[in-house]
Amino acid sequence: MNAGTYRFTVGAIDCIAASDGELSYAPPDFPPAPPLLFVNARDEEVNERLRLHDIRAEQWTQWTSPYVCLAVNTGGRWLLIDTGAAALAPTTGKLLGNLQDAGIDAGDIDMVVLTHGHPDHIGGLTNADGSLAFPGASYCMCRHEWEFWTCGEAEELLDDHLSSVLIGCARRNLPPIRGRLELVDRTTEIAPGVTVFPSPGHTPGHMALVISSGDEHLMCVGDAVLHPIHVECPEWYSAMDGDPEEMVSTRCRLLGRAVRDGALVHAFHFPFPGLGRISRSGDPWRWEPVSLPTG
Ligand SMILES: [Zn+2]
Repeated sequence: MNAGTYRFTVGAIDCIAASDGELSYAPPDFPPAPPLLFVNARDEEVNERLRLHDIRAEQWTQWTSPYVCLAVNTGGRWLLIDTGAAALAPTTGKLLGNLQDAGIDAGDIDMVVLTHGHPDHIGGLTNADGSLAFPGASYCMCRHEWEFWTCGEAEELLDDHLSSVLIGCARRNLPPIRGRLELVDRTTEIAPGVTVFPSPGHTPGHMALVISSGDEHLMCVGDAVLHPIHVECPEWYSAMDGDPEEMVSTRCRLLGRAVRDGALVHAFHFPFPGLGRISRSGDPWRWEPVSLPTG
C-alpha cells in the first residue's frame, strides 16, 4: 500500500482513505489563509490559535489543502465517498491511481456518494472526454444539493468569478449521472451499515455519513470542518461556507454526536488520511489524528 492510501476497519467493514492530492488556495484567487478559513475571527485570536499549532500567521499566505476520499466495502460492494477534483490542478486527480494501487479499479465501484456539489468533491465524476469515471456505479446525493446546482438556484445566488468555476464544474459533472441517481431528503440507510443524513450550511444540501458495524462508528463530516482549528473554534467559519450560521450549528451537532458515539471521524480536507477522534480537553473539542505507522 502506498502513501496515497490508508486501509482501516470499522467493525467488520473494510475502509480505505484514498488521496486525490492537494490544492493550494492562494491569492489572487483566494484571500490569504487566515481570513479565508476564519472569516469572523479577530486577528489576535487567530494569531494566538495559530501559535498553538506552530503556524506563523504572516507566513501562512496560502492554504494547501489535502483532498481525501473514502472507499468503503460493505455487503460485498464498494462505496466511494466523493470523487476528488480530477485535473483541476497538476496536484489533483490522483484518486484513480491511488485506488488502483489498493487493488480497486474504477469499474469496481458500485456506488458513489457525494457529500456536496463543489469541484473538489464532484470533479472526478467524469473523465476528460465527459464519460463517467466510475462506469458501473449508481450515485447518491441530497435532493436539495442536486436541485441547487441543476435547477438554477446556484446561478441566482452566486455571481462572482469563483462561482462561475463552481457552476461550470457542476454543469459538466452532474448531468451525466442523472439516470443513475438516488436523491435523498432525510436520514437514509443507503447500504448495510451506511447512513447518510442532511448536514446543511457549507452548501444547502451538504450531506454527512455514519458508517457503523458492531459498536464501532465512523462519521464522515465532509466539509463541515475544513481545518483542525475549526474543531477547537467551531464558531469560526470560512469564506467557502454558504450559510455560516447554519454551518456552525451543523458542525456543533456533528462533532457533539461524534464525541457521544466515540466515533472515528473522517474530514475530507484534513491532513492525510483525514482520520481522527474528537476529544474534550480544555477547548470545547480537540482533533486527535490517528497515528500512522512509520517506516
Ligand atoms: Zn471541499
